[in-house]
Amino acid sequence: MTHSRPTVPSADRYWLTNAHVPVSLLTEAIAPQTPDGLALLDLEIHNGCIRQIAAGSSHAADSDAIPQVDLQRGIVFPCFVDMHTHLDKGHVWERSPNPSGSFEAALEIVNADADANWSADDVYRRMEFGLKCSYAHGTKAIRTHLDSAGKQGAISFEVFRTLREEWRDRITLQAVSLVPLEYFLTPEGEKLADLVVESGGVLGGVAFANPDLDRQIERVFELAIERNLLLDFHTDESGDPADIALRRLAQAATQHQFSGQIVCGHCCSLAIQTQADVEATISAVQKANLGVVSLPMCNLYLQDRNQYATADLQRPDSGKSLAHLPDRAAYTPRWRGVTLLHELAQADIPVAIASDNCRDPFYAFGDHDALEVLVQGVRIAHLDAPYGHWCHVVTRTPADLLGLPDTGRIGVGLPADLVLFSARYFSELYARSQHDRIVLRQGQPIDTTLPSYADLDDLMQK
Ligand SMILES: [Zn+2]
Repeated sequence: MTHSRPTVPSADRYWLTNAHVPVSLLTEAIAPQTPDGLALLDLEIHNGCIRQIAAGSSHAADSDAIPQVDLQRGIVFPCFVDMHTHLDKGHVWERSPNPSGSFEAALEIVNADADANWSADDVYRRMEFGLKCSYAHGTKAIRTHLDSAGKQGAISFEVFRTLREEWRDRITLQAVSLVPLEYFLTPEGEKLADLVVESGGVLGGVAFANPDLDRQIERVFELAIERNLLLDFHTDESGDPADIALRRLAQAATQHQFSGQIVCGHCCSLAIQTQADVEATISAVQKANLGVVSLPMCNLYLQDRNQYATADLQRPDSGKSLAHLPDRAAYTPRWRGVTLLHELAQADIPVAIASDNCRDPFYAFGDHDALEVLVQGVRIAHLDAPYGHWCHVVTRTPADLLGLPDTGRIGVGLPADLVLFSARYFSELYARSQHDRIVLRQGQPIDTTLPSYADLDDLMQK
């Protein structure tokens, strides 16, 4: 027996019947029918929205002339939210590869690529490519960080504003500034904060460990409070247990009684710290009402690239020269790079996962597919038992952290922005590629054809 691909009618009113929906993604409490938290439901779609949700086949009596699409227990998700990406860096691998795979080399190579190539046109086309992939895979909202130092800030934020407008009916796009936090101690840092305000963006940066970090954090909070901006940081993306920027940012948020949502991404070093350090950080994060986003694919790729990361638990003495790194051919990674997702979630801290980089020096792969992120996240970080509980990490929780309360969930009155899978259970969803998924936007199937890599060939000539 084969699972026939359902055909969704172009009618403005129809039923999706026999849908397996994770109850954790429903806005109303409905009892699950499988041990992994799936409920068998029928969804009535009307004028692009979900009009009714009924227990499987219970509406049969009123099934007059309304078309029905039998999903045969196929899983239905709300459209995805990819809350931490770098669309501006993406898809440069062919012209700027990172053969060493190290974080330090990635920083250098991206900076060189930006200096040589990041005109408005180059950034626009690569960002648009990323948006096309995301949309075709079923993503509805994206937050991207934008490298913002010097003149690049104005170029990339302008491209962002253009694309946000062009894509507004398809993807909710948010942008965050990305500079080392020391940048905010300079007059240029203040100008960048103003650019973020003009662009309707979020203030952010990388909290690299350095002796002046507290002063830098203080300044970024001042700038955000003066301008009423939200905050989103890159923190502790390293294998050095001495990196505790997450805790410091949480303490600063509490001191400032910062009321807006703060997000911290990566937080890798938390996973290799002592229990006492972990408890101190988690308690500070809890008090500060921070959200944490992990980037499992990128962290797995970048972390533990050299023997210092876990063998000596020491950072190489210099981030500038690669000469000190040992021969990577003789080293196998020992840890997974992800933060303590389970421990953070246990403490009721909102945790999400996201794509991060795609086909650039920080991550050689990726296709802006939030399902791939979830599948890999499940495998890398054991987001299981029960599986249905964890599917909020690419849907409802990132939607909440981005301030999109109607996104990332399924409920009566919400837009019928849904992803229909042929997989009926999580064991099927996480086992086989779901490239044949159907993406509905406002109740209608979209073209899920992915853009061709060849579209970017002319940009890859050095
Ligand atoms: Zn990132």
